[in-house]
Amino acid sequence: PEFISVANLAIALGLKIDVFVSQLEELGFEDVGKDNILTGETAALVAQEYGFEPKVDMGEDEDLRPAPVPEDPTSLPLRPPVVTIMGHVDHGKTTLLDYLRKSSIVSQEHGGITQHIGAFSVQLSSGQQITFLDTPGHAAFLSMRQRGANVTDMVILVVAADDSVMPQTLEALKHARAARVPFIVAINKIDRPEANINHVKSDLAKHGVELEDFGGDVQVVCVSGKTGQGMEDLEENILLLAEMLDIRADPGGMAEGWVLESTIKPIGRVATVLVKRGTLRPGDYVVAGRVQAKIRSLRNEAGVEIDEAGPGMPVEVLGWKEPPEAGDMVLQAPDEGRAKAAVRYRQELKERGDVIGQMEQIEKDRRERE
Ligand code: GDP
Ligand code: MG
Repeated sequence: PEFISVANLAIALGLKIDVFVSQLEELGFEDVGKDNILTGETAALVAQEYGFEPKVDMGEDEDLRPAPVPEDPTSLPLRPPVVTIMGHVDHGKTTLLDYLRKSSIVSQEHGGITQHIGAFSVQLSSGQQITFLDTPGHAAFLSMRQRGANVTDMVILVVAADDSVMPQTLEALKHARAARVPFIVAINKIDRPEANINHVKSDLAKHGVELEDFGGDVQVVCVSGKTGQGMEDLEENILLLAEMLDIRADPGGMAEGWVLESTIKPIGRVATVLVKRGTLRPGDYVVAGRVQAKIRSLRNEAGVEIDEAGPGMPVEVLGWKEPPEAGDMVLQAPDEGRAKAAVRYRQELKERGDVIGQMEQIEKDRRERE
């Protein structure tokens, strides 16, 4: 079926409904109850989490499915790791990102004129690249995770050495754990006289973070976004972890990615897309949610037009008919006809979904009155 209730999916998977609902919450679904309706696509992803291999009727969306991962993924080229910086407010996330951005060779080549596009790629002197994401809006993150995707390969958990573990530190920790994303702790502001590195470490340990200092496997790097101290170590640690994760992607085939941000600028509707696999080029047709684009141009974080964007690269995409939504998956279509057909199909799905939602509501109201 194209739609299934949480209760019916639990039955199909052979699970107790209340147990299943709480497990869905762990997977990142918010306010989910047994009467919620899931699309076939979401249900399929959830079923996969339980080791099933569901067959989904994708209708017109079929044409947008990217090619399957090859049998031997190690034959694919490595792609830059995608890193998200998280942490409590004022602990220095923006400062660290700015420092990394400025130290990037790419930004130096363009006279350091960088603009905020929610994501940027740093080229190290070794030639290796790291893609950093500004903490995307919570809703976008959640929406991506609900579809079974971890846009980010790892998290940098920033903790200020003069403030230690705070509520949003714990929240970030919770997210990283729920998404099963490995993380590195960056203890920031070590230049401050009030800095107390050991205090931060013991606070983290109290919250179950198994730091390498104490025999665990979570790396800790002490940095200052102000003086730049430790920043090279941080980059090295990121590359080390990336090497362990062996992050690869196919630059060929139909492209696939995620909308990180969507804005309207003087030049038109712009979406920042993180390419996950394949390569985007001007002239390509893409679909995100119920919106399509013929890519008019691609721009990097320095606002410079580029010819292509491959796996792991964040890029501004221009040419949307409507603004796409942050958190939507981007899929390349082979041609305009199939992009249109997919949008039409998704529109119909939504309308039918709305009808089912309304019927469920009416039924619920009726039960409540009785
Ligand atoms: P965010 O809310 O996590 O993005 O934090 P910001 O990057 O905006 O930093 C908050 C404040 O801390 C700003 O006034 C920064 O200048 C300051 N700050 C950030 N990193 C450092 C650091 O390493 N050392 C010192 N002394 N101040 C820092
Ligand atoms: Mg900030």
